[in-house]
Amino acid sequence: MFDIKNVTRNNIFRLTPYSSARQEFTGEANIWLDANENPFETEVNRYPDPYQIALKTAISNLKKIPVSQIFIGNGSDEAIDLLFRAFCEPGEDKSYIFPPTYGMYEVSANINNVETVKINLAADFEIPECSAILKQIDSKGLLFICSPNNPTGNVYALETIAEIASNFKGLVVVDEAYIDFSNRESAISLLEEVLNIVVLQTMSKAYGVAGLRLGMAFANEQIITVLNKIKPPYNVNSLSQMEGLKTLQNRTKVLEQIELLNSEKAVLVELLKQIPSVKKVYPSEANFLLVEFKDSNKIFTTLRSKGIIIRNRTLQIKNCLRITVGSPEQNKVLINAIKEI
Ligand code: PMP
Repeated sequence: MFDIKNVTRNNIFRLTPYSSARQEFTGEANIWLDANENPFETEVNRYPDPYQIALKTAISNLKKIPVSQIFIGNGSDEAIDLLFRAFCEPGEDKSYIFPPTYGMYEVSANINNVETVKINLAADFEIPECSAILKQIDSKGLLFICSPNNPTGNVYALETIAEIASNFKGLVVVDEAYIDFSNRESAISLLEEVLNIVVLQTMSKAYGVAGLRLGMAFANEQIITVLNKIKPPYNVNSLSQMEGLKTLQNRTKVLEQIELLNSEKAVLVELLKQIPSVKKVYPSEANFLLVEFKDSNKIFTTLRSKGIIIRNRTLQIKNCLRITVGSPEQNKVLINAIKEI
């Protein structure tokens, strides 16, 4: 049985949160003199909505999940940090990751003085059999599953995620930063049945607004209440809330771009496979490709000297580079540059 008290740090469970002016009075008024703001109107002289209700309502309609089950952070990186602060007792609880994966999980764990237990992905980047990992995930804390995984690009079955979550005492965080590029069903569909799952998504990738810093967490209402309790009062600025809403209202453009990037990805895969210095192109359901080269460092540094920057993942996966799918023009330049090396 899920009990929020069992997964939340004691001090956080007991915490009386700060109550901001905009929380204490909502509604219509003629004169606002409660928040020590500057009264002279500009677009940004007032504090933003602390709970981003307009933006959440749009997200709620899109994802078919109640507003009460949505948290919005200053990027999903903020949500990751808050999850540690709320649900991992420093020096006691643990964080579990499946490397190679997104680097911030371990950095956030270190910032919060939480030990990271690494359970390596299998050779095909699959999560090892549940029975094999159960003994290793015996502590409370957070377990991260990135799907599609960064930097490998593969996705994990919802059944696997649900099985791990059902056998874990802490919270399973399913990071779906790249889900919009995939046709797979989101782990949001598990939330009703499996109460210890938190799903992260972001507007930084497919939605094209990384600069706004808008990340989302979806979970049962009790988990969201805890995150709301500890977040900085006005964590998402008003310009980001406004622009984020506009982006959601113009989803056609987003969907068109996703389609274009996915077809560009398919073109890139075919072209890369024909280049002799390429050993392997891993299948990807994200907007990037993990590519194994015969000499990845040479490719990386030569491209860099030509002003083409890709991500060197050689330290995580031997001879592998991660290439973000760019515009058709950028991809052409990239392919020609690799061919010339
Ligand atoms: N999760 C994954 C897997 C990512 O790759 C990234 C960004 N690189 C993030 C989360 C952070 O995204 P945001 O911009 O929403 O903080």
